[in-house]
Amino acid sequence: MSRYLIDQYQSLEVYVPGEQPRDMQYVKLNTNESPYPPSPAVIDAVTKEAGRLQLYSDPTLMELREAIAGLYGVKRENVYASNGSDDILNFAFMAFAGKGGRAYFPDISYGFYKVFGDLHGVNYTTIPLEEDFSIDPEKYHNLDGLVVIANPNAPTGVALSVEEIEGIVKSNPNNVVLIDEAYVDFGGESCVGLTTKYDNLLVCQTFSKSRSMAGARLGFAIADAGLIGDLDRIRNTTNPYNVNRMTLSAGVAAIQDNDYYMDNCRKIEATRAETVRRLEGLGFTVIPSKANFIFAKSDKVDGGTLYRELKSRGVLVRHFESPRIKDFNRITIGTPEQMDVLVTKIKEILGV
Ligand code: PMP
Repeated sequence: MSRYLIDQYQSLEVYVPGEQPRDMQYVKLNTNESPYPPSPAVIDAVTKEAGRLQLYSDPTLMELREAIAGLYGVKRENVYASNGSDDILNFAFMAFAGKGGRAYFPDISYGFYKVFGDLHGVNYTTIPLEEDFSIDPEKYHNLDGLVVIANPNAPTGVALSVEEIEGIVKSNPNNVVLIDEAYVDFGGESCVGLTTKYDNLLVCQTFSKSRSMAGARLGFAIADAGLIGDLDRIRNTTNPYNVNRMTLSAGVAAIQDNDYYMDNCRKIEATRAETVRRLEGLGFTVIPSKANFIFAKSDKVDGGTLYRELKSRGVLVRHFESPRIKDFNRITIGTPEQMDVLVTKIKEILGV
């Protein structure tokens, strides 16, 4: 840190992303990327668009917003898109909580919520998950600030139903309820349908997981036009071109190729079921997951040791040191071949 950095940023804790090491080729099961490549049409769209990089991207993102609106049965004024869903979460903390404002989210959830809360001086409260890592929706009723829930939650994979979300949205008529559906395409229930009924519900999704575009940085939100306009105000006071031309064209092509991506999600769900079965057979406790990862703990080896032993054998998973979850590892669901390697290495570590 230099002596020029102003005080308000000096004490901030930064978000620590999953490792992206370059020392060797790992079976990478630590950042919930898709194991499948983008569809050929997406690669083609990006290649074509590269030849037009001398031009700024469309700051209204019109074509992409229309494509997303068509797929989800909403109007284009109900769709916002941005440079990854992290960008949307950041803007939402800024717009709907802000300095001294209140926000509520689970104690165990996506690490960026706290980081954005601190960045914007939000007075946030974390609500403990239940013993089994589920969320008790009642604990989010009748609050007095921005409510943020990842559904399915990360790193647990546990999901709430649309009815449970509706109860939260209904009981918070004066607050924005942000439902982060980064992992919803892997078996969760989306609450996008509720956005036509409630003007305080902001549903956020990403192209990073189910649509194999983590490296392109594209997220979107669906909500009442009022909330979308608010997010746009923040974009237009920071960076109107925050989604680049290649990402925009990739996004449109990915929406047009929806079947390819949804087929991949079904494959990942099948691989998840098989992986759970095999890990349970080895004595693991696996939290029921609706995401493209599982949260698992061994009855024979502690979480930190398993993480390190796997890493030394070329398999990367994600381990969090925090007290309630340090016995667990979050394991991204890769291809069946990658999961075979995982299980083989785990057997080796356990000596079975
Ligand atoms: N929400 C959750 C719950 C996540 O796990 C992630 C991925 N790390 C994101 C949002 C952000 O995704 P992206 O910025 O790649 O769209």
